[in-house]
Amino acid sequence: MRNVNSYKRIVIKIGSAVLAGANGKVNNNILASISEDIAWLLKNNKEILIVSSGAIALGRKKIKLSENLSLPESQALAAHGQIELMSAWKKHLNKFSIPIGQILLTPRDTELKISSKNATQTVSKLLESGCLPIINENDSTATDEIRFGDNDLLAAKVAKLIGADLLIVLSTVDGLFGSEEDVKTRRISSLIREVNKITPQIKKMAGHASQMGKGGMISKIDAAEICFKNKCVMVITSGKNKKPIRGLAKRAKATWFVKK
Ligand code: GLU
Repeated sequence: MRNVNSYKRIVIKIGSAVLAGANGKVNNNILASISEDIAWLLKNNKEILIVSSGAIALGRKKIKLSENLSLPESQALAAHGQIELMSAWKKHLNKFSIPIGQILLTPRDTELKISSKNATQTVSKLLESGCLPIINENDSTATDEIRFGDNDLLAAKVAKLIGADLLIVLSTVDGLFGSEEDVKTRRISSLIREVNKITPQIKKMAGHASQMGKGGMISKIDAAEICFKNKCVMVITSGKNKKPIRGLAKRAKATWFVKK
């Protein structure tokens, strides 16, 4: 059984559907539970970075728009919802006296030499000063990010940038399942426990799971491919579990991506 204790620098990605309800309200119970786990990790001397989705989803609480959003509508929701998102994190992490710092990035920022260097330096300084970095895509300016991007890929790129050894993806499902039917029924016997190589068969399984935020399972597999190239282990588990990260040590309900 794999265990978070074996890792030092950990990126935790939280999906929109974990953090926000359909009405644009924060899922406070879930955020409280994740915040408690973050406090536990920090107490255990782990270096933690959060990649949090949810700006667009939380923007829906006050700005009423139709289900299908145009690009400017998504960007307006993100501009408003990002404040709600950070307020929610601040409220929950304050209970553990954990100060936070916000970084908004585009995938380009993680690739261009000068901006990626600056982003890395900012993250290092925040970590050194005991301030938890919370990263999201810069949705309001980065047009292609909203249309094509998702935070799974951003999280994998951030993990690469800062040399993380573990990426935890908190999703609404327990991990990668063998078939569409098994995703629906959450048939645990068909949960894939460990993936050592991204094969066409794995990609086919991922194609079935479409109900998870913007990126879906397929973008999580793309993220795992980036992690594999950078000696970073990735794990997918449900953020809706009680103690979703502490539970990883004993709970079997997760898919670990470990290159062999
Ligand atoms: N950056 C978007 C947001 O915060 C979410 C992208 C995604 O679905 O991962 O709303």
